[in-house]
Amino acid sequence: AAAQAADYDFFYLVLQWPGSYCDTKKSCCYPRTGKPAADFGIHGLWPNRDDGSYPQNCNPANAFDPSKVSDLLSSLRAEWPTLACPASDGLQFWAHEWEKHGTCAQNLFNEHGYFQTALHLRDQLRVLDALASAGVAPDGGYYTLSAVKGAIQQGTGFEPFVECNRDESGNSQLYQLYFCVDARASGFVECPVQPGGRPCGDRIEFPAF
Ligand code: 5GP
Ligand code: 5GP
Ligand code: 5GP
Repeated sequence: AAAQAADYDFFYLVLQWPGSYCDTKKSCCYPRTGKPAADFGIHGLWPNRDDGSYPQNCNPANAFDPSKVSDLLSSLRAEWPTLACPASDGLQFWAHEWEKHGTCAQNLFNEHGYFQTALHLRDQLRVLDALASAGVAPDGGYYTLSAVKGAIQQGTGFEPFVECNRDESGNSQLYQLYFCVDARASGFVECPVQPGGRPCGDRIEFPAF
């Protein structure tokens, strides 16, 4: 069969801060395998178009098959943990991400390649070290948006888009980081377009986890 052309221009690698997923009115549940490390985890690797739109659920026939990633499971548990309730082992989260987003990049990778690529990309960033080098730490303190973005730019070479959510008291907090990856998933690039979302404000809480 002829290779399918890509229906996207780049990827977002989206990382989530578990402290901010949990520090909301909805709260969270730890995976059945235990509390994840206090580090940024993967939310997903999402094909996206330069105009901000994106394909989704591209191949219902290619449902997630855990046996295809059996060699990656310990890395996935450590670096792509689920925090949704009720507590689970992560398989549902990974299935959702593969089926909604991964199946839209089948021109580039199969299920194993999708997860392996996302793990490799995350390993290159070391975001928490970049933040720590600039004195930005998950200590429940408040930081400016430019301090957070500047620290990550300094340490990783790339400036992410920062998405905030609200803690139980309504304070804006550092929730997700969007990094951009080229269409071959070979490395990070400057973002062609910013994802939508409301502003963070200039006082951003960085809750502990
Ligand atoms: P939310 O409503 O939480 O912003 O987004 C819900 C879901 O829609 C995300 O988890 C993701 O699956 C998808 N999504 C939201 N924004 C984007 C985007 O800019 N690009 C892509 N590819 N997916 C997105
Ligand atoms: P998206 O927002 O990527 O379309 O969908 C995320 C889906 O995965 C939602 O149904 C959400 O409940 C589920 N999910 C499971 N674990 C997590 C998690 O740790 N973080 C996020 N953001 N969603 C999770
Ligand atoms: P500028 O492009 O001038 O830096 O920012 C324009 C607007 O976008 C400002 O309101 C600024 O706070 C917001 N903004 C810039 N970068 C980010 C980001 O990473 N996350 C969020 N949520 N807003 C941002």
